[in-house]
Amino acid sequence: MKTPQHAPMNQFPIIEDCLHVGGRSIRNIADEIGGAPFYVYDRQLMTQRMKQLRSTLPDGLVIKFAIKANPMPAVVQHMSTLVDGLDVASAGELRIALDTGIDPADVSFAGPGKMDWELKQTISAGATLNLESENEMERAAKIGEQLGIQPHVAVRVNPEFELKSSGVKMGGGPKPFGVDSERVPSMLKRLGELGLDFRGFHIYCGSQNLNPESIIDAHNKTVNLGFHLAEFAPQPVSLFNIGGGFGIPLFPGDQHLDLAPIADNLEARIKDVADRLPTARVAIELGRYLVGEAGLYVCEVVDRKISRGEVYIVTNGGLHQHLAASGNFGQVLRKNFPVVVANRVVGSKREVANVVGPLCTPLDILAAQMELAVAQPGDLIAVYQSGAYGYSTSPIAFLGHPPPAQIFV
Ligand SMILES: *Cc1c(COP(=O)(O)O)cnc(C)c1O
Repeated sequence: MKTPQHAPMNQFPIIEDCLHVGGRSIRNIADEIGGAPFYVYDRQLMTQRMKQLRSTLPDGLVIKFAIKANPMPAVVQHMSTLVDGLDVASAGELRIALDTGIDPADVSFAGPGKMDWELKQTISAGATLNLESENEMERAAKIGEQLGIQPHVAVRVNPEFELKSSGVKMGGGPKPFGVDSERVPSMLKRLGELGLDFRGFHIYCGSQNLNPESIIDAHNKTVNLGFHLAEFAPQPVSLFNIGGGFGIPLFPGDQHLDLAPIADNLEARIKDVADRLPTARVAIELGRYLVGEAGLYVCEVVDRKISRGEVYIVTNGGLHQHLAASGNFGQVLRKNFPVVVANRVVGSKREVANVVGPLCTPLDILAAQMELAVAQPGDLIAVYQSGAYGYSTSPIAFLGHPPPAQIFV
């Protein structure tokens, strides 16, 4: 059997064997921000990705950005000019979203365990609360009354089905997210009694899916569930958020997601929704698919060691700055992200090496037994697919190293 390879990474040009981002060499970017480690994100790639999505997916589809994938304010600002709305998961993210100048009506807040002060801030701002429980609905109604503002709400539904072959499952069976679908009809009755402004449904099944059939299956089931639940709605549905979950290739064997069949199916479902829920717009929310491939994590080689025949490239970055690439963010079996020597991508000599960080834990691995150009101290190591769930997902204080810089070019 052929060993699986990483999908080709050609989003960043390689000039004179050195990675370039935003028209500049990675070395030049490192010099500008005082050296590695750092994250670099490319705005042109984000713009291109949105353009490609808009031209492939049907007209009329609302595309939202889930900012937890990359909450760097400059990134969110840029994305806010490209998408139709922002999804946030905390009051901190709400602040970042509102500071872009986006219409608060295009901001929604999902996530279990919203605190009273978060509900208050959201209702005051006029953003939409995606209600995660009946209790949260009661608290939102009370706070709205105190403020003299009618809260805009959607109901996040936990469906019975799940998103098959997904890296991260967030619906189906018992879950902390949303309200079990069988309880939604009675919740909607109460929602009407409370006088909340009902916007629609939010049904999010999972993340990091690279299988079009699974995504299509989830979209179809989600739309049907929405039709059923809409019969109990106190007001016409204006927004029907059917989730997202579009994945990006991270590991050997992963392929880029084929959008064409998903787009064809969405077109048919949008027609169905136009027939049966004529007031409703259909939305999807994406995080990593919009920004993940537009970012690199870069660190510098500090030492080169041989231990009992294996090469260790020791860097000044690692698990504390890129938890996902170390394999400790929800992976069961550790697999390598795509990694290269950034200033010597092909190199004149190659070898199989382990790339590790400076932490005193065997978990601090950026690449295990990977074929790379021979690297020396001072060389730069780049981890691809790092524009999402990198910086903000990492235990940056662990071991007390300074945080990596972030630059948006
Ligand atoms: C995390 C999350 C997203 C974004 O997930 P990606 O895998 O980055 O696309 C979207 N919606 C909700 C509700 C989420 O929790």
